[in-house]
Amino acid sequence: MNEPITSKGQVYDTSSIRALDLSHHMHPFADQQELVSEGGVRVITRGEGVYLWDSEGERLLDGMGGLWCINIGYGRKELVEAAARQMEELPYYNTFFKTTTPVAAELAAEIASISPNGLDRIFYSNSGSEANDTNIRLARLYWTRLGRPERKAIISRHNAYHGSSIGSGSLTGFDDMHDIAGVPIADVHHAPAPFWWRDGRGQTVEEHCAWALDRLEETILHVGPENVAAFIGEPVQGAGGVLTPPPGYWQGVQEICRRYDILLICDEVICGFGRTGQWFGSQTYAIEPDIITTAKGLSSGYLPISASVFGGRVASVLMDKPGRMNHGYTCSGHPVAAAVALENIRILKRERIVERVGEEIGPYFQARLRELLDHPLVGEVRGVGLMAAVELTRDKEGRTPIEPVSSLATSVRNLCFKTGLTTRAVRDSLVFSPPLVISKDEIDWLVKRLRDNLNQFV
Ligand code: PLP
Repeated sequence: MNEPITSKGQVYDTSSIRALDLSHHMHPFADQQELVSEGGVRVITRGEGVYLWDSEGERLLDGMGGLWCINIGYGRKELVEAAARQMEELPYYNTFFKTTTPVAAELAAEIASISPNGLDRIFYSNSGSEANDTNIRLARLYWTRLGRPERKAIISRHNAYHGSSIGSGSLTGFDDMHDIAGVPIADVHHAPAPFWWRDGRGQTVEEHCAWALDRLEETILHVGPENVAAFIGEPVQGAGGVLTPPPGYWQGVQEICRRYDILLICDEVICGFGRTGQWFGSQTYAIEPDIITTAKGLSSGYLPISASVFGGRVASVLMDKPGRMNHGYTCSGHPVAAAVALENIRILKRERIVERVGEEIGPYFQARLRELLDHPLVGEVRGVGLMAAVELTRDKEGRTPIEPVSSLATSVRNLCFKTGLTTRAVRDSLVFSPPLVISKDEIDWLVKRLRDNLNQFV
């Protein structure tokens, strides 16, 4: 018996929603003709805890936590109430012209209280992409104010995902996102990032790490360190395939940045707010960033809001000296989104959700997934906390990529989707980032469903 279709028992007309959607809705990262040929997309109508329901009443365990963002799970009434209270009190006001709102100020202080490396100055945007655009502009402004306007270049990495706007899409390190005109913008460069399974064949993990660090330094020297404003990296590359850094990698990156006086930006859009088992991935990997980018888990995805967090030498130049900063968005610090984010952080703290990921449920998730290493199609399981990738292979020894790339992962993903589990195919891997409130029983179900589905392709 299927669950009721909405909490109020409302019944949806799936085929007419699909028809409207196909006619009028341009989906992100989609091939519209593929959607048409498949008769439209699945209609998701409700969420509770780690579960979603579609318009036909089918339940899915959300192994992807929305899009790496539903950290506290679906259906938290406290967030609904926080939004409603703020909507009634003051649904909108800007923070441009010498005004603020209580929630924008309180949230800034709350973010400052948990941010790594003493970072304590918050600039609000509405998405991870916008926050990274903010970082590009403000990192360049920092150097301009120091009388070094030629320091413009930003070094990013292959397999990085930093967003989809013109600026952040340029930082993103996927060639297939660079075939849209105008991206990457000038002065953005990409260095290889370590991905031992695919790119480190014939090397030990240590050799591969040293190789990636050498390529990074080589890129900086090629651009000229005197022209480089900042390096940006995700503590764990998420959309690139949950590429966890090899031991010592981040210390190496940090040394290189210090050697050439380059700002270090950690993009914590996925890693932040507990995903890696600490509040931020920077803490998990002992990184001391000058700037961090946060979004997604900041509000658990309930409303769009993001924050760039600055401190130390950057804040002292941008904020502690006179000079106007001509940058911002109509909804920077939107009060309703801020109220929701504030309540979200309070829940994460009150319920010790981050500690639970670090101490208990993250290690359990990683251990259970690693049991799949005995499966003939699983080459590697990598991850930390509640983010993981299961790398599929038909050649465990030689690690040759599957041809065509992602064909097997996409088929397994589709079967999972059909059988009640959301995951995402990234090249030959399946990636997971379930809500941080997932239980051990739910993890057991996820791993069993995945194994059963993998068995269909042996
Ligand atoms: N940075 C990282 C690490 C991300 O994973 C993403 C989105 O997945 C972004 C930035 C872009 O965020 P948004 O989609 O909110 O613009």
